[in-house]
Amino acid sequence: MKSTLHTAAQICEHGFAPLENRAALESVAASYAVALPPALAALIDRDDPHDPIARQFVPSEAELDRQPQELVDPIGDDAHSPVKGIVHRYPDRVLLKLTPICAVYCRFCFRREMVGPDKANALSAAALATALDYIRAHSEIWEVILTGGDPLVLSARRLRAVMKALDNIDHVKVVRIHTRVPIADPARMTPELVRALKIKAKPTYVAMHVNHARELTPAARAACARMADAGMPLLAQSVLLAGVNDTPEAMGDLMRALVECRIKPYYLHHADLAPGTGHLRTGIATGQNLMRELRGRLSGLCQPTYVLDIPGGHGKSPIGPSYIERMAANGGERVVVEDFSGGRHQYPPQNI
Ligand code: SF4
Repeated sequence: MKSTLHTAAQICEHGFAPLENRAALESVAASYAVALPPALAALIDRDDPHDPIARQFVPSEAELDRQPQELVDPIGDDAHSPVKGIVHRYPDRVLLKLTPICAVYCRFCFRREMVGPDKANALSAAALATALDYIRAHSEIWEVILTGGDPLVLSARRLRAVMKALDNIDHVKVVRIHTRVPIADPARMTPELVRALKIKAKPTYVAMHVNHARELTPAARAACARMADAGMPLLAQSVLLAGVNDTPEAMGDLMRALVECRIKPYYLHHADLAPGTGHLRTGIATGQNLMRELRGRLSGLCQPTYVLDIPGGHGKSPIGPSYIERMAANGGERVVVEDFSGGRHQYPPQNI
């Protein structure tokens, strides 16, 4: 397979879904964009009905099942958008959404109602100028996060122009890029594109979205190495997904593979309440148990923070597990702390 599959018919014809599902998948594709690029298609075992790569990227008739608690804008971007392309939720940072296009469309995407080639939210030159004016006018903005869609589908020329504009805003000290391109289309990460992301005196952090160790192919690892060698700190954001990474083995393998690629696990996101994604969500207890397993078995480098984006635009909060319990004490603070293997200890220790 040499080019990206964009339709339900192509998905079925190439054997990624049964032909009899075609009509249902066309209904899914009418609402939510489909793109399965060759680099990810090559990882899918078409004979495995539970393949963790297919679960993430191949449309499923389960997406037609909308649950009452699911939301069109689950993390509340719109409530914090002062001008087109900007989301200003936290005081010191903004999202700058340059494009609704992605190299691959994740079936659980929290912005699935906003991303895709037919969504009318590409940022025009005039809208980009207004968004940059907003950043210039707000001196409290310390960090700008390029997101989308996926900003790295844009040309090196366009990205260089945006990075230069941000470089020229004194109060912006850090630029961060959220992307899946190094995984979905590693050949795009050419030396020219990597150079376009660098700015003179400010760090460019790249936060990659990776959910399964198999996504880190030799080509993806080489793409990440080009960015790391160019001096860009690399982070990973992963989403906890049923049947993809919800076992200690799968999550542990992912975290270790990331660190081996010089990518620091940053957030493990609880899956958002995006429409038609119930089959991929777990309970919060699953995530907390996984985090305990990671803490007990793997290096501190391999520990992400497990977070929930609170529906309604209230931002992210760490959701545990907690290792500390307060005890009633006479005239002082006393707590019980749990160690990495489940042992419980009073602090301060008694009788010392
Ligand atoms: S790459 Fe990101 S924005 Fe694009 S579909 Fe996947 S999760 Fe959504």
